[in-house]
Amino acid sequence: MYKQPRIGILGGGQLGRMLIQAGIDLNIYFKVLDPDPSAPCKNIADEFVCGSLLDENTLFKFAEDIDILTIEIEAVNTDALQIIADKGTIKVFPQPSIVKMIQDKRLQKQFYITHNIPTASFILTETIADVWENKHYLPAVHKCGKGGYDGKGVQVIKNTDDIAKGFDVPSVLEKLVEIEKEISVIVVKSANGQIQTFPVVECVYHPEHNLVDYLLSPADITTAHEEKAKQIAIDLVKKLDYIGILAVEMFIDKQGTILVNEIAPRPHNSGHQTIEGNFSSQYQEMLRAIIGLPLGNTETRTYSAMINLLGEAGYEGEAHYQGIEKVLALPNVYIHLYGKTITKPFRKMGHITLLGNDKREILQKMDIIKKNLKIISQ
Ligand code: ADP
Repeated sequence: MYKQPRIGILGGGQLGRMLIQAGIDLNIYFKVLDPDPSAPCKNIADEFVCGSLLDENTLFKFAEDIDILTIEIEAVNTDALQIIADKGTIKVFPQPSIVKMIQDKRLQKQFYITHNIPTASFILTETIADVWENKHYLPAVHKCGKGGYDGKGVQVIKNTDDIAKGFDVPSVLEKLVEIEKEISVIVVKSANGQIQTFPVVECVYHPEHNLVDYLLSPADITTAHEEKAKQIAIDLVKKLDYIGILAVEMFIDKQGTILVNEIAPRPHNSGHQTIEGNFSSQYQEMLRAIIGLPLGNTETRTYSAMINLLGEAGYEGEAHYQGIEKVLALPNVYIHLYGKTITKPFRKMGHITLLGNDKREILQKMDIIKKNLKIISQ
């Protein structure tokens, strides 16, 4: 039996916005909490509360009249979430203890080691002095334990000249991997135990600003790599005893080994293209999972790609979408704007999904989009 669930989302960004869009077809009542009064969910949530995601009392009050509490961002007060979950009247997915572990890259890496999940070798550092002491470990990547996102809090340290760029806070010093491809697998585990993976996608990062430039679905990798990557993702949700949606970012190194880079306990940038490219989207699957409904078909309908639409460098102010007419005149191109009024350099303002018969067709269309669509202010 199903009746309209009341779902609370912590975070009102674009991921929440697309979750709401998917949930409308399930008659879900959405209540959203975000500190930004003009967050992307503001105008489409049934109820929008402006407040801190870190303040215990704000979270307690927010959760009073909902059935299921979930997140679209990791930076939330997990201790408060645990207290809410322990009361037993509201379901909290994913489980707060797992989100707390994921918030800290040091704990994440230790989890991989103790649970036999393949990952790049690392040591823990407390200060920059520890990096100097372990200079034999270079070249490496220094990563802040807490608070990093979208490449902020990540620094490549090739040799001792770079050590000063490292972090003087508890961090991970990870061996530099010779990356052949960056891939991602989204896996869903429902409240009733069903597990489903999405096909592996290939993420191509922008060399300058450390965000996904575009991604291709499915990834251009061997069947053996596809199977191995999915099996690692399934192994992870089982070992975490996780409920909800989990994005698993991985590297394939030059030797062909798959290593887990990091995980995200929420819908992910690498799953945006599933809205049009797959039979069921990451947002639909997440909702089915946390409500406890049967999962859908995650397979691809066709070849697809996703490009992040970032604010153009050098512009800040009210956003204008230059060249949108030319882009939308192309066949099988779908635009998603995130409802952000103000553009800033490299701010994620939206994304485009392109569908096509093969990689060549998609890359040609992508080239036209990149040359023509610019998000600027006037
Ligand atoms: P964030 O949490 O900010 O997304 P990541 O840990 O995903 O940070 O790192 C950002 C990017 O840095 C990765 O996508 C990858 O391109 C590069 N990177 C991270 N770790 C390594 C590594 N050990 N070796 C080589 N490159 C890495």
